[in-house]
Amino acid sequence: MSKPTFPWTLSERAARMNPSVIREILKVTERPGIISFAGGLPSSKTFPVAEFEAACAKVLRDDPAGALQYAASEGYAPLRETVAAMLSEQAAAQGQAWDVSPANVLITTGSQQGLDLVAKVLLDKGSRALVESPTYLGAVMAFTPMEPEVISVASDAEGLDLADLRAKAHYNGQAARFLYVLPNFQNPTGRTMTEASRAALSQTAAELGLPLMEDNPYGDLWFDTPPPPSLTARNPAGGIYLGSFSKVLAPGLRMGFIVAPTAVYPKLLQAKQAADLHSPGFNQRMIHEVMQDGFLSRHVPTIRALYKSQRDAMLQALAQHFPDSATQPEQSLTWNAPAGGMFLWARLPVGMNAVDLLPHAVDKGVAFVPGAPFYAGEPDARSMRLSFVTPSVEEIHRGVAALAAAIREQQAL
Ligand code: PMP
Repeated sequence: MSKPTFPWTLSERAARMNPSVIREILKVTERPGIISFAGGLPSSKTFPVAEFEAACAKVLRDDPAGALQYAASEGYAPLRETVAAMLSEQAAAQGQAWDVSPANVLITTGSQQGLDLVAKVLLDKGSRALVESPTYLGAVMAFTPMEPEVISVASDAEGLDLADLRAKAHYNGQAARFLYVLPNFQNPTGRTMTEASRAALSQTAAELGLPLMEDNPYGDLWFDTPPPPSLTARNPAGGIYLGSFSKVLAPGLRMGFIVAPTAVYPKLLQAKQAADLHSPGFNQRMIHEVMQDGFLSRHVPTIRALYKSQRDAMLQALAQHFPDSATQPEQSLTWNAPAGGMFLWARLPVGMNAVDLLPHAVDKGVAFVPGAPFYAGEPDARSMRLSFVTPSVEEIHRGVAALAAAIREQQAL
């Protein structure tokens, strides 16, 4: 017997939502034994389990009612203070006077919620959101339900094309609502904006009256030297900064934060109240407790060292299996050498397409994410994202060998 049906009517907004293209692609890769350069997961080896265990016991012993009760939408006050102090100290160490007040810090349920709240507060149907090319797909997914026009600004390894930005910041007598930008170890490209391009972007955005939405989940994961100072630090009144504990502590606790100017903070707070009242008080206290005594300054260097050795293994394997990349870049895979973060950006030989290659690569035992879904505008079909943090060094070598074999076979056809 067939099940009875019911006449659900979905909203137009729901009709515009799509499953993440990447999640769909990754389904192909979820076969046992596949070496995956595809996932965006931090290495679980970096999760400070013992510290969380101790923090959990302490939080429940010292303040069970506070941890388990409803609480303020702004977030747990001591955590907001810790975040404000951390950012102010980082900025000062880089010669920037960014005096972050706890009053401007809103604790969010992951920085992904920050993207959703900012979209709700700043975007209308038909209004313009500017993004880099390529950009983080999860941000575009957060913006889309508000029905904006998402427009990509030409970008390269150094930063954004400011002439293109100027051309797109105003349209039909209106101003774009913001530029969403990932200056450090970008997802998907692993690129980092240079100091010169940050200074120029900050100045141009201020001139244009264009707000910046700076997303910085990877900024602490530098390998040799810290990246140049943040964009928001240069002009706090004109920027919203999104931070995350996912890549330095653990993504499963879903803890992030927004630093917003006083002009928009109350609206973000109202959107936060409507979304989930507040982020889990228990998780906020756990994060706060673990961060006591400068824990991050001991812990984060261990993540940097691990990810750097993984990146080096991938660079070494790529150089070994694609020896012609410098001499014949159009006939070889080419790639960048990210200075931090989790991802490397590679480009297939001319005429090849990463979406078409993926099933052949999976047959050989390796997976990656094609770059095309990360473009809001014209995609580069040859591009692909390779994560170097989850597979072991041995798997990185085997995976790159399998990728090389898949590419050669396709080239020979
Ligand atoms: N922004 C970027 C650029 C990301 O890569 C991610 C995680 N993949 C997020 C935001 C969301 O991170 P979270 O919600 O875990 O803080």
